[in-house]
Amino acid sequence: MSSNAEVIVSCESCISYIPHVISRGMGYCNNTDSLVIPGEGVCEDYKKRDIQWLRKVFKEQGWLYCHTCRIHIFSLEELEKHINDLVTYGVFFDDAVYEDAYSAD
Ligand SMILES: [Zn+2]
Repeated sequence: MSSNAEVIVSCESCISYIPHVISRGMGYCNNTDSLVIPGEGVCEDYKKRDIQWLRKVFKEQGWLYCHTCRIHIFSLEELEKHINDLVTYGVFFDDAVYEDAYSAD
């Protein structure tokens, strides 16, 4: 375990990134108002999502979403368990997903 391991900066770890509800390979950037593909570089306003920020958001909206486990988080204790996961304040839907959701119901 090296503490000097190269950190790959990805949109996925930015506070402006909202993951697609299904796909791990794409998301929406609230900052640039555009679709982004993690791993293709970040914009100059990249800001790393950290536990302090997540706690603040949790206090504001009362829940968070773990995209890794695909569950909502409703307590700070629960948040601690998902700290190494992709936890965001929401997910991004597109029209195709809505159609899928309706037909599956
Ligand atoms: Zn999780």
